[in-house]
Amino acid sequence: MSEIIAYKIDEEIVDTQTIGEISDASEIVFDNSHDSLEVIRHSTAHLMAQAIKNLYPDAKFFVGPTIEDGFYYDFKTSEKISDTDLKKIDKEMRNLLKRKYPITKYEISRDEVLEKFKDDELKLAVISRIDSETFTIYKQGDFEDLCRGPHVPKINLLKFFKLTRVAGAYLGGDEKNEMLTRIYGTAFADKASLTEHLKMIEEAKKRDHRKLGKDLKLFTFDDEVGAGLPIWLPAGSRLRSKLEAKLFKAHRVRGYEPVRGPEILKSDAWKVSGHYENYGENMYFTTIDDIEYGIKPMNCLGHIKVYQDDIRSYRDLPLKFFEYGVVHRHEKSGVIHGLFRVREFTQDDAHIFCTPDQIAENVIEVLSFVDDIMKTFGFDYELMVSTKPEKAIGEDEIWDIATEGLKKALDKNNLSYTIDEGGGAFYGPKIDIKITDALKRKWQCGTIQVDFNLPERFDLSYIAPNNEKTQPVMIHRAILGSFERFIGILIEHCAGEFPFFIAPTQVIIVPVSTTHSEYCQKLKKELIINDVDCEIYDKNESLNKRIRMAEKQRVPMILVIGDEEIEKNTVALRDRRERKQYNLEFSEFLKLTKEKINEANF
Ligand SMILES: [Zn+2]
Ligand SMILES: [Zn+2]
Repeated sequence: MSEIIAYKIDEEIVDTQTIGEISDASEIVFDNSHDSLEVIRHSTAHLMAQAIKNLYPDAKFFVGPTIEDGFYYDFKTSEKISDTDLKKIDKEMRNLLKRKYPITKYEISRDEVLEKFKDDELKLAVISRIDSETFTIYKQGDFEDLCRGPHVPKINLLKFFKLTRVAGAYLGGDEKNEMLTRIYGTAFADKASLTEHLKMIEEAKKRDHRKLGKDLKLFTFDDEVGAGLPIWLPAGSRLRSKLEAKLFKAHRVRGYEPVRGPEILKSDAWKVSGHYENYGENMYFTTIDDIEYGIKPMNCLGHIKVYQDDIRSYRDLPLKFFEYGVVHRHEKSGVIHGLFRVREFTQDDAHIFCTPDQIAENVIEVLSFVDDIMKTFGFDYELMVSTKPEKAIGEDEIWDIATEGLKKALDKNNLSYTIDEGGGAFYGPKIDIKITDALKRKWQCGTIQVDFNLPERFDLSYIAPNNEKTQPVMIHRAILGSFERFIGILIEHCAGEFPFFIAPTQVIIVPVSTTHSEYCQKLKKELIINDVDCEIYDKNESLNKRIRMAEKQRVPMILVIGDEEIEKNTVALRDRRERKQYNLEFSEFLKLTKEKINEANF
């Protein structure tokens, strides 16, 4: 029987130091469950801080939270800490374990805590962020830390951890503040789980989309251009345009109309929509002829204007407008990360205008669209319903109707989901689509949002059957989320081995010698006419070397062409995905590529 390390009351984890006499709590035992790992990892962060304090007595600590797959602690010392110091810190942590310190807790007042940490500007920064009159201190041995918990009862439970890397982090994530040292680590309840996780990290490093993006020449970034502004190279652009084209058709088949709004809109419009007040800090602004304009962070307003361009009847609804909308959002420089977090990106954005009665069926239709796409790419996914956030517009009653509408649609179709309280957009509740990649990592991508607020603010209407002007509902939805982020995830998911239908180069033709080049040019032209991207590798290198180069590019198919192939009108095919090698007629090969392209089933 595993040791009890904490309890859960309602949705809150309460540690053994805090539980007191409360009896109706469920137990959290020492295992690899989500709740248990929360406690284990946060305690391991403290153990790490204690070890750092022993090794670097002038160390001061900011915050040390748990994250998706581990924990970190931000701190500073007069000495520079690098990856090579991790071993030493790890060793000190294991030394501490032998002391078997219990972890205890006591409460102090705001005045006392300010006095206690009066020489520690980092803890003072933490305290200034907390609006409370009482604070709790956790203590193990002679190490004390300001902390809300929860923690395991004693440190020697924490055996299965690993410090993974050192990074820099601005205090509070704000680039105007000083840079602190951040050490990342992870911890589990048993050795096998830790080992498996570390293997996954190694594999993830190999698949890092920033590395593969460079190797496969898909995209780049440039300091002269600016951080978070991706530059798509030819191969990346080919991949992207194939995905865009496929998705364009999929939208048309499902009754969506392509539209396009402007990149910048007057700030007055953003004031009507509520973006100015609620989202302004993420927006960029510019001025033309003394009038302020906002660069769009979302495409909603353009689509609203398309809706308003005509008188709409209930017979027209639902109206579905879609756009590959380029948007700009201010991300702090500390969080910019490859294609995952950028300042300019393109959403596969759509807005469905419908009657309230049509919400459920339209949400379900979008979910089936999501299902088709995710299955094609081999992603598992889960759904999460996010409710009203603190910063929001609109009446509670309207929020309830919209939130219930989403849940009902899911329930009716037996789709399971979790709830994220307070995670909605400022104008409405949403369903988030979280995908799981080949390394079992979860990514938030698409989203479906039900919105009664913007139609109200822009006074949208349609003529109902009773001839009365009635307000439609707006459903905002993106399935990939953004092309940038989705392609970044896809690169890591398939390790650069893209499905045939979007591979930047689908076929590489390798002539045995230069005398075969002209014939290869003919094949290339024929393939491109048939929507198959291809390249010829006819550089002055040995045949084997050119084949190896083609393989390194992770191209799905390689054709080797020599005398025999030309004579018989065949190709020698190396199918890298199927790991097969055989000869077939060129016309058969064309048929095969068509089949492969049609495997994309959305
Ligand atoms: Zn803590
Ligand atoms: Zn929208």
